[in-house]
Amino acid sequence: MNKMKKLVISALLANVMFSTHCNICNFLKNFFFAQNNKETKKERMIKQIDSDNGTPEKRIATTHKRILHSIIGGAVGDAMGKPTEFIRSIHDILEQYPGGLRSFYDFKEKDFFEKRGKTYAPYTDDTGMAKIVLEVLLETKQSNFALEKTMKKIAKEFVNDMSNKDGWAAYYRAPGNACIKNCKKLRKIILDKKKHPEKYKNIKWWRVGKTGTHGDGGCGSVMRTHPFGLIFAQNPQKAEDWAVEHSRLTHGADIALAACAAMAVGTAYAVQGKDPGFIVQQMIKSAKKYDKKTAKKIEAAYKAALKNKKSCKTLEDMLKKSKTIFETYLGWAAHDAIAATVYIFALCPDNIEHALALGTNTPGDSDSIASMAGALVGATGNNTMPQWVKMVESYKYLSVLARDVWELF
Ligand SMILES: [Mg+2]
Repeated sequence: MNKMKKLVISALLANVMFSTHCNICNFLKNFFFAQNNKETKKERMIKQIDSDNGTPEKRIATTHKRILHSIIGGAVGDAMGKPTEFIRSIHDILEQYPGGLRSFYDFKEKDFFEKRGKTYAPYTDDTGMAKIVLEVLLETKQSNFALEKTMKKIAKEFVNDMSNKDGWAAYYRAPGNACIKNCKKLRKIILDKKKHPEKYKNIKWWRVGKTGTHGDGGCGSVMRTHPFGLIFAQNPQKAEDWAVEHSRLTHGADIALAACAAMAVGTAYAVQGKDPGFIVQQMIKSAKKYDKKTAKKIEAAYKAALKNKKSCKTLEDMLKKSKTIFETYLGWAAHDAIAATVYIFALCPDNIEHALALGTNTPGDSDSIASMAGALVGATGNNTMPQWVKMVESYKYLSVLARDVWELF
C-alpha cells in the first residue's frame, strides 16, 4: 500500500470513529436529557386536569347532581382510601402523607395507575362491586324485574366478573375474604343449577352469606349498597328491603343486614333532599329492625359528630377531633363502617372534600369508609365537586351510569 492510500484510509477511519463517537455522545446526551425531563405520573395527571375545564354538573338538574355526586363520591373515596387502607395508624398515615391524604394531588407516584397513555386513580373492590349492582339495578328498573330475578342477576354478574383480570376480585383491588369465599360458593351453585335446575326451583339459592352472630358481618355488602338508595330513591322501603336481600349473597350476619338497610335508606332520603338530622334518624330506625347493636352504634356516632361539630371549624380541627372516633369505628365490621359513615355525614354533610379526606385518613378500612361517606354526602348534592375527582378510574363511564339512573327517574 503506498503512502497516499494509507493516509486516505487513516483519514476515513478517523472520520468514522469521530462520527460514531459523536453519535454515542448525542445518544447519551439525549438519553440523560430525556431522563431528567421525564414527566412524572403526577405531572401528567395535573396536565390532564388542567386540560379538562368543563364543569357540566353545574348545569344539571338537582336530582341528577345528587345521583352523579353519590356515584362519583363513592368511587373517589374508594380510590383515595386505597393507599391508606392498610396503614394501621393515623400517625403512620401522616408520616407517609404529611398533612394527610386529602386529594389525588397528594398521591405518590406508586398510587397512580396508567393505561393507554392515561393516568388515573384506581378504585378497589368496593366500586368494582357497586358498579355491578348499579348496572343490574338499572336493567331491573328498565325491565321491571322482580326481586328474585335481580338477586340471581347480581349473583351471576359477581361470579362472571371474578374471572375479569381488572374485575372487582383483581388482586390489586384487595377484595374482601367473605366476598371471595361466597362468590366461589355461588359459582358452584350456578354450575350445578345448569345440570339440576329442579333442585334450585323455589329456593333462595343466592343466600350463601353465613347468618347469625358469628356470620359474615364484614363491610363487604354495605360498601356496595348506595345504588339501591339511588335507584329506589322515591321508595326508601323498597331500597331497604332489596339492599338487605342483596347483602345475603355474601354477608348474612345481622350487623351486615342492618348496615345495608341504613345505607340504602339514608341514600334514598338524601336524594330526596331531606335534611341530615331526618336522614340519620331514618337510618337508625331501619338498622334497628335487623340489629339493635348497629342502631346504637349509629346513634352514638351521630351524637359524637354533633358534639365535635361545635368545636370544629376547619378540616384540621375535624381530623384532630375525630381521631378517637376512627380508632373506635375501624370499619372492618359492617356496623362500625356504617357508624363511621354517619359520623362523617353528620359532621360535614355540605362538604364532600372534607368528608372524603376524613374517611381516607382513618386507621381502619379507609377505602370503604371514605367510599360510603362520599356516596352518602354526595347524595345530598349540597356540594361542589372539585375538578381533580375526574382522575378517578372510569370517571366517564360512571357519569354515564349516573345519567342513566337520572333518566329513569
Ligand atoms: Mg376495598
